[in-house]
Amino acid sequence: MERRNLWAPWRINYVQGLSESRECFICHNLQNPQQDDANLVLWQTDKSIVILNRFPYNNGHLLIAPARHIAELDEAAEDELLEMFKLITESQKALSLAIKPHGFNVGMNFGRCAGAGLPGHLHIHVVPRWDGDTNFMAVCGHTNVISQSLTELLELLKQVSKKHDLPSL
Ligand SMILES: [Zn+2]
Repeated sequence: MERRNLWAPWRINYVQGLSESRECFICHNLQNPQQDDANLVLWQTDKSIVILNRFPYNNGHLLIAPARHIAELDEAAEDELLEMFKLITESQKALSLAIKPHGFNVGMNFGRCAGAGLPGHLHIHVVPRWDGDTNFMAVCGHTNVISQSLTELLELLKQVSKKHDLPSL
């Protein structure tokens, strides 16, 4: 018997919306290494991944996450915690070499009420700071210029990493 299809093309946006809203972008990046550049992945190590934040608080905003989809620090093993902390150090080194920040904010948010955009997969924010940078971001934080500079910044950070053998865990 001939198989007949019932077409409902208007559902595609709904179906795609469902998968987009449910998917963890960190896990997605881990599972698609062939798209590392498009996904802004800087480093992938044994137990962790380091990604340029697509929606940065400031230029050079990195995210460090365990490879496992875990939400809370008490779910992380000691070697995962240690590697993530080492990657904070290595991220600061790479950013210092590439874009010479004057300081850093390093932190974590747990739960949506605390500002976590992705509460299911814990991650550490490493945010470079410069003297007097706060006004700059309020004006330029969400302009289209960012996506181009993210690509350039990723390339610069990769070059610096290669030259200085980072991360050297
Ligand atoms: Zn995840």
